[in-house]
Amino acid sequence: MSDTQTITRKIQLFPVGDKEEIDRVYKYIRDGMYNQNKAYNILISNVYSAIYSGKSKEEIDDIYKRGQRKPKENDSDYSLYKSGEIDFPKGMMTQASIKMAVKNDIKTAKGNGLFKGKSSLPTKRLNAPLIVESQQFNFYYNYENYADFLNELFSEKLEVFMKFVNGINFKVIFGNPHKSHELRCIIQNIFEEVYKVQGSSIQFDNTGKKIILNLSLAIPKKRMELDENTVVGVDLGVAIPAVCVLNNDEYAKEFIGSKDDFLRVRTKIQAQKKRLQKSLKFSGGGHGRNKKLKPLKKFEDYEKNFVQTYSHMVSKRVVDFAVKHNARYINVEDLEGYNANDFILRNWSYYKLEQYITYKARIYGIEVRKVNPYHTSQICSCCGHWEEGQRIDQAHFKCKSCGAELNADFNAAKNIAKSKDFR
Ligand SMILES: [Zn+2]
Repeated sequence: MSDTQTITRKIQLFPVGDKEEIDRVYKYIRDGMYNQNKAYNILISNVYSAIYSGKSKEEIDDIYKRGQRKPKENDSDYSLYKSGEIDFPKGMMTQASIKMAVKNDIKTAKGNGLFKGKSSLPTKRLNAPLIVESQQFNFYYNYENYADFLNELFSEKLEVFMKFVNGINFKVIFGNPHKSHELRCIIQNIFEEVYKVQGSSIQFDNTGKKIILNLSLAIPKKRMELDENTVVGVDLGVAIPAVCVLNNDEYAKEFIGSKDDFLRVRTKIQAQKKRLQKSLKFSGGGHGRNKKLKPLKKFEDYEKNFVQTYSHMVSKRVVDFAVKHNARYINVEDLEGYNANDFILRNWSYYKLEQYITYKARIYGIEVRKVNPYHTSQICSCCGHWEEGQRIDQAHFKCKSCGAELNADFNAAKNIAKSKDFR
């Protein structure tokens, strides 16, 4: 059995462009519908009569083949349509789409007793929705990066677009953030590749003025119920970017990423940037300066993107860990106003990582809670004993009461998982 199910949602679209472009788009859709539906009706009635009069499979296949062809002026047998009768929309796959639709509809009608006179031949209104295949459209944003998109996700100003065929771009109309909460989450799920876009259709609303996308999506079947008593504790550290453990399972743990892969690249970029800045300082103003600023900007973008890509990877694995163990909660340290270790803050974008974990967890209904970071690395997670100096160094923890020796990040993550000191 498939582990996905299909849902359909109506989304209002508006063409991007000036008055002339908007007119062009409306005309394209209107003409596209007209030609698609007219061709559908011709094809299905031809297939129907062929089956009804007992034609062979080859003859029926030939009808489908001719139904895929554009009419030729001097060869009336070449296509099923008369010259000038059908003008397939440019950039669409209408011929293939209607072939599929006719095959499916004939099959369904057959099951309903079409050839026994129990059901009538399905035909389409000339303004029935325009079929769009999944590869003919995709959603995008113009923000510099994904984090900026996420920051705007629930704001009035959110801007998401849909690229369509024939040079057409639409703006997605969201409306009031409170009323369009579900739609905004759906768009996020599409970008995160949790939901997969399927063949859909475009139509006008009742007034004939609004363009509506009937978006069809493959979404994962509802997961098992999350366990209210299972909590993931995440320790965000330097040696290991994220250590995940559970509050109620001694053996479940995951160490995500390493200091080396992150810092190595990061330090290299920073050194190159510094050299470039230095050389700029000595070159002074004048003509060559702007030219030299360009590579500096490039380094900055690269640096930013690297942190982001890395944060996405780490946050995804944290949430995957929670999903795998049906955890209802993820506990992270609240680092707001906490600057005990400024090296960490300089080298690792914790806030971003926390934010990404929160966004990705929401998809599964997992709640991210912030706990007080005070003492999480100095309490023994085995017996609860607190004393200064139990964390021997970056990597080792040794309890002065029960003698437990633990990986320091693992110990901290355990305390975070068990903490009830929420912020
Ligand atoms: Zn202990």
